[in-house]
Amino acid sequence: MSSIRMRTTDILVIGCGAAGMAAAAAAASCGAKVMLADDRDRPGGILPQCVHSGFGLGRYGNEMTGPEYSEEEFRRLEKTSAVYLPGTRVLEIRPDRTALAAGYGEITEVTFSECVIASGCTEKPLWSLPVTGTRPEGIYTAGEAQELIELGGCDVGDRIFILGSGDIGQIMARRFCQLGKTVISMAEIRDHLGGLKRNQEDCIKAYGIPVMLSSTIIEIHGYPRLSGVTVYHLDTDRYEYVECDTLITALGLLPDRSLAEGLEHGGRYPEWLHFCGNADYVHEIADGASAQGEKLGRELAGKLIHRKEV
Ligand SMILES: Cc1cc2nc3c(=O)[nH]c(=O)nc-3n(C[C@H](O)[C@H](O)[C@H](O)COP(=O)(O)OP(=O)(O)OC[C@H]3O[C@@H](n4cnc5c(N)ncnc54)[C@H](O)[C@@H]3O)c2cc1C
Repeated sequence: MSSIRMRTTDILVIGCGAAGMAAAAAAASCGAKVMLADDRDRPGGILPQCVHSGFGLGRYGNEMTGPEYSEEEFRRLEKTSAVYLPGTRVLEIRPDRTALAAGYGEITEVTFSECVIASGCTEKPLWSLPVTGTRPEGIYTAGEAQELIELGGCDVGDRIFILGSGDIGQIMARRFCQLGKTVISMAEIRDHLGGLKRNQEDCIKAYGIPVMLSSTIIEIHGYPRLSGVTVYHLDTDRYEYVECDTLITALGLLPDRSLAEGLEHGGRYPEWLHFCGNADYVHEIADGASAQGEKLGRELAGKLIHRKEV
């Protein structure tokens, strides 16, 4: 049976994505003792699966892919004294400023002065919508599909229907075309496309992706594999059956604050608990998540140094 290992740090950062790396690097550069835990066995959070370019323009002045941006940020982190714990999941944050983490067969209790939650976000699943029918294989959130394709080398399907027209849906639509798949259509409940203008141009227009506006999916068909969806066109009050073998949902992202559950009192979190990156609010651009993390890291190190001096 493994015993609990005790560790102490000034700042515990949870999540080694764009936000967490920047927060940890900035705080450590300013003299704080920093520990950075991430449940994945490699750094970067969502960045390594974003193989397209469009990262780093604000922060580095040139366009990079997600993996390149991640490597650059990790290089910055490695130059500092911050202790990086890969493959380590923080299970619980307690009101007495301790956190319980598990990784590599070891349970660690970390005592900290400040805690930064940079745990990213979760994707809204299809089943959060009023959709009936079967629950077959062939349905993925855009992030899941991206990870399976780019990091897992998997083939998720051939005839793709995309629900939701935000940036992630548009980027995945382009990626499927590049892979030689057929993107049958993208449906959007609003009467206009979501996402950044640049993605609308580079992904939807450039690849001629058919778009159904004012439309949503109301029924799933096929079992064990998806065979089609029923689309409801709100503007014309019409139903349409569309054949497909893969459904990609891009329904939006929600900040993941699950670790902070139970720590909120009267709508306020303890003064030692902080959020940054997508765990705070959804950042369209990674540079924004890094900048926010960096600012927070510097402020927390300053706060600690001031406290020690007093
Ligand atoms: C498909 C897609 C395309 C994008 N395209 C662009 C683009 O072209 N240009 C651009 O600038 N931005 C783009 N972005 C946005 C950008 O990638 C994100 O805003 C940014 O990377 C988010 O960083 P983060 O650190 O907040 O979260 P994440 O990268 O999600 O990192 C959070 C980390 O925390 C870990 N974690 C969670 N819970 C725990 C726990 N309990 N214990 C330990 N670790 C935990 C997670 O595993 C993860 O590694 C894109 C995003 C997506 C999804």
